[in-house]
Amino acid sequence: MAFDANGGVFEATGRPGMLMPGQPSRQVENPGAQDEVQGWLTPDVQAAANRAPSATPRAPAAPKNTMPRLTADSSGRLWLAFRSAHPVWWNPIGTVWSEYVVSCAGGSCTGPVYLHRTDNLLDNRPAVVTLKPGVAAVIGSSDNRRQFAPAARARAARPGGRDEVEDPYQNDIWMNTITLEPARAAVEVKAAQLPKPAGTVVDQKEQAAIATIRNYRLQSPREGSLRIVSGEFHRHSEISGDGGNDGTILDQFRYAIDAAHMDWIGCCDHDNGGGREYSWWTTQKLTDILHSPNRFVPMFSYERSVPYPEGHRNVVFAQRGIRPLPRLPRVSENTPGKAPDTLMFYDYLRTFGGIVASHTSGTNMGTDWRDNDPNLEPVVEIYQGDRQNYEMPGAPRSNTENDSIGGWRPKGFVSLALEMGYKLGFQASSDHISTHMSYCNLYVKDASRASIMDAFRKRHVYGATDNILADVRSGPYMMGDVFTTSSAPELRVKLVGTAPFAKVHIIKDNQYVYTAQPKTASVEFTWRDQAAVRGKQSFYYVRGEQEDGEIVWASPMWITLQ
Ligand SMILES: [Zn+2]
Ligand SMILES: [Zn+2]
Repeated sequence: MAFDANGGVFEATGRPGMLMPGQPSRQVENPGAQDEVQGWLTPDVQAAANRAPSATPRAPAAPKNTMPRLTADSSGRLWLAFRSAHPVWWNPIGTVWSEYVVSCAGGSCTGPVYLHRTDNLLDNRPAVVTLKPGVAAVIGSSDNRRQFAPAARARAARPGGRDEVEDPYQNDIWMNTITLEPARAAVEVKAAQLPKPAGTVVDQKEQAAIATIRNYRLQSPREGSLRIVSGEFHRHSEISGDGGNDGTILDQFRYAIDAAHMDWIGCCDHDNGGGREYSWWTTQKLTDILHSPNRFVPMFSYERSVPYPEGHRNVVFAQRGIRPLPRLPRVSENTPGKAPDTLMFYDYLRTFGGIVASHTSGTNMGTDWRDNDPNLEPVVEIYQGDRQNYEMPGAPRSNTENDSIGGWRPKGFVSLALEMGYKLGFQASSDHISTHMSYCNLYVKDASRASIMDAFRKRHVYGATDNILADVRSGPYMMGDVFTTSSAPELRVKLVGTAPFAKVHIIKDNQYVYTAQPKTASVEFTWRDQAAVRGKQSFYYVRGEQEDGEIVWASPMWITLQ
């Protein structure tokens, strides 16, 4: 759509969707056209309900063309450059995006012109310049990532694991020149109407729930006034080898800031992009550029994946400059004892002041809980929007032997870690694709990086699938605390939901000891444990289940009755 000097509105007679490649396909010679792909802009609201057991919901196959840049030469010829997932979609170092150009003059347009030596990240934006009428140059960088052979050669040259090979993918600058004819006539257009604004797109209900959480203050006799910051630390972007469906890293920040209205985030990728310096550096810079003190607090974060029994873990640091840690060889499942790699990882976290959380612990990405350090791994991703709940067998949204996305590893239930005496706070984060259903809410003194780390270490945190407020205390103590009391332990529970609560459970030492059925969105009650045994430490936590299926998990308190 374009405007003339008098404010008239025009649009091209052709549709650019006809000219761009269709869904990524192995048929390199026949990419189809974007317009041939049906239904990919219409959300399938039943996708989650209809998913196959142990499978994630299937999104409609979509074309992948983005990052448009437009210019015109002096003859009036239009040049549109964009990134596409054709003709190769994936490489171990990340997804593969290539540059295409479409050009229009008069009433006709070219098809998509593939530009060689443009394979690179998605968020790579070659410059488009016109050299003379009918001739354009596209100047950018390629790291050669559509070739698998360099990685295979490097690996073969140095046996001993993928983390020891030298990175064979280096950026070089390339220029493509496209020579067509000068335009003989302007691009054909027709008069158009500006589309009417569709009205407000702000979800008033969500805004109200977020305001309730933001405005809440917990007055702690021990720690003063605490507020909640809502966020998460498990998103991915195209920088991850398996993150091509997630969009750019900027899209992840846009989700956190503009769509979910989060107060903080840990963003985003596997070893910040396979441990490669460029994507690490980009991520680190963005984490500081988008830091808006007291309003939006990005943390330095990455995922470090080691398969079961050691486990994938997501890392959070308050300070910039720490490179992802390479791996030691993995232990076998049947070898007892601690995992050397995890112990090395804990040393690194101790040195640089980080914390981690295991994710999807009851799957092939999980752990048999052979390792824990309460100062360095104070929380667990109990629920993840991309998959399931790993709290305990039989809990809502829990995985089962017949339906466990990512494999069934029942030794990974969080209930078993708690039974082993581990002190883990609860949080929910998203992983791939899923949005608006994973929240890690921290009770902090202020919205600063230091206070976020402090809240993690104290387990002053709760997880939720929606913007739900949870405040669970006992005397002067709060969720996450470990303490001794001389009278029967008492829990003061306050929840503000986004819908009425069907059930609010108190769970003591993995047993349901009390269930309220409030049928209201605001819940406040006190429960006293008359069965507490003197001298024994027990853990107590609260799970709230709304009538609409949304859930909140408050972190446990570990209480010893003297
Ligand atoms: Zn993972
Ligand atoms: Zn992940």
